[in-house]
Amino acid sequence: MDKVVGILGGGQLGRMLAASASLLNIDVVVLDFGENGPAKQVVAPRSPGLSHIDGSFADPEKILELSSKVDVLTVEIEHVEVSVLEELETKVPLGVHPSPFTIKVIQDKYVQKLHLRDAGCPVSDFIQTESTVESLRTVAEQLGLPLMLKSRTLAYDGRGNFVLNDLSQAEEAIAALGGRTLYAEKWVPFVKEIAVMVVRSRSGEVVSYPVVETVHKQNICHLVFAPLRSRDPSIAARARTVAENAVKTLKGAGVFGVEMFLMADGTVYLNEIAPRPHNSGHYTIEACETSQYENHLRAILDLPLGSTALKVPSACMLNILGASSSFSEITSFANFALTIPGARVHLYGKSESRKGRKMGHVTVVADSDAQLSLRLRPLLTNLPGVHD
Ligand code: ATP
Ligand code: MG
Ligand code: MG
Repeated sequence: MDKVVGILGGGQLGRMLAASASLLNIDVVVLDFGENGPAKQVVAPRSPGLSHIDGSFADPEKILELSSKVDVLTVEIEHVEVSVLEELETKVPLGVHPSPFTIKVIQDKYVQKLHLRDAGCPVSDFIQTESTVESLRTVAEQLGLPLMLKSRTLAYDGRGNFVLNDLSQAEEAIAALGGRTLYAEKWVPFVKEIAVMVVRSRSGEVVSYPVVETVHKQNICHLVFAPLRSRDPSIAARARTVAENAVKTLKGAGVFGVEMFLMADGTVYLNEIAPRPHNSGHYTIEACETSQYENHLRAILDLPLGSTALKVPSACMLNILGASSSFSEITSFANFALTIPGARVHLYGKSESRKGRKMGHVTVVADSDAQLSLRLRPLLTNLPGVHD
């Protein structure tokens, strides 16, 4: 493989993408701040004259510089400067994947929801709102309470969301969301959160990974169970179809993380789509025949897509979040996880720890759900206490 992939963003997703690229001799150039972030640490560009770029993935100049060095541009984060990517789409030899159109639609959660609803995908009710008490009163009358207030842009790990239980919280909500442009979503009383990774080839062919259950705590992904446990196999089939159909409405190649809500009656609603590898797909490294990272690279480089099938009966991914600025809890938890059969530890090489920051993860594979539970229990008991 003699292709060079430029990645906007150099965090843990870029790190795992770069590690995967190295197995196929795919050269990678990373654009992000600093000399030595999580992705830059794991690969050095191989081709003569290439080096990683120190700068922001929101800086058009830096994106232009990256584009001049690579065959294809991709992202590990959706909060990138998108208008320059639109200009570059026809200038970079193999283009920008996923397409800037897709990144633009997804960047603004309100526009994303409009796009999905217009395409006939199942989403719960939502409406635009101003950051005023009066406007919140109007949306509460229309959608009922509780409702979920969301910042339209730059959201992650629930930062940008506010659960409005009562109108007396309106001012608190406005203050908490700090003048950002908002919209409101009807509250979805789901029984489970589920997710599917979908791979879209350059020709628009779509394949999906198994359905997983995602367990969040304080809005941050805590656990991912694969496959989805359910008595009714038609639920998983339906969720995969919903996810695949949603991705078919978008443009460009790559993997997409599709977050969904499962209702008591088996109905599935879309929550949001990430146009890139996703936390709910980390498990694919150990548990599937081809990881989400490798399939992302295969998709954007027009290589044959790999099988998305599970190769183990049962798997769980557990996020390691920072408990404080100290690394000691993380190191001792990781060392403990090394003693668990079937567990693989991933640490992200971040230079600073913070409460709630994603510092690593552990994937546990097992021959059965019962064996998985036995392996998981001591890990959950020893996990640093940030989730409580
Ligand atoms: P991510 O890190 O996944 O990008 P985010 O900041 O974009 O997170 P969302 O995925 O929109 O946030 O919401 C975070 C969590 O809040 C969801 O995983 C779900 O638990 C809950 N949530 C979001 N929307 C709703 C809703 N309409 N009704 C009920 N719960 C919701
Ligand atoms: Mg999000
Ligand atoms: Mg989300």
